Amino acid sequence: MTTISVRTRAKDDMVDITGSVEKAITESGITDGICVIFTPHTTAAVTINENADPDVQTDMMKGMNGLDLEKIPFRHGEGNSPAHIKSSLIGCSETVIVHGGTAVLGTWQGIYLCEFDGPRTRKVHIQVR
Ligand code: ZN
Repeated sequence: MTTISVRTRAKDDMVDITGSVEKAITESGITDGICVIFTPHTTAAVTINENADPDVQTDMMKGMNGLDLEKIPFRHGEGNSPAHIKSSLIGCSETVIVHGGTAVLGTWQGIYLCEFDGPRTRKVHIQVR
């Protein structure tokens, strides 16, 4: 297993980690298999989405904030229930197929760590088999 550290830059953020995932795949020596990308945090997430137009990432965060979760009087004492909910909506992991020593992704797809309670330093575990 490879663990990477990802520094997020804002309360809500998406950081492209595709290069780090590809590096972990290369270093694993596995050319055909599966790669799991998992973040062990309850207010962050992992997703695959467009990496061509950065406005897509901005709009994804805008869309999540459009849910207006901050207006709901939650009970959780930390005050970050909206971030917990967003984390579960997106999910804490993704799986990609490894073929020919590389992640099989669409032309416009990148792998992202999503931050909902930053800025922080987040861990992402990558396992190739
Ligand atoms: Zn919390």
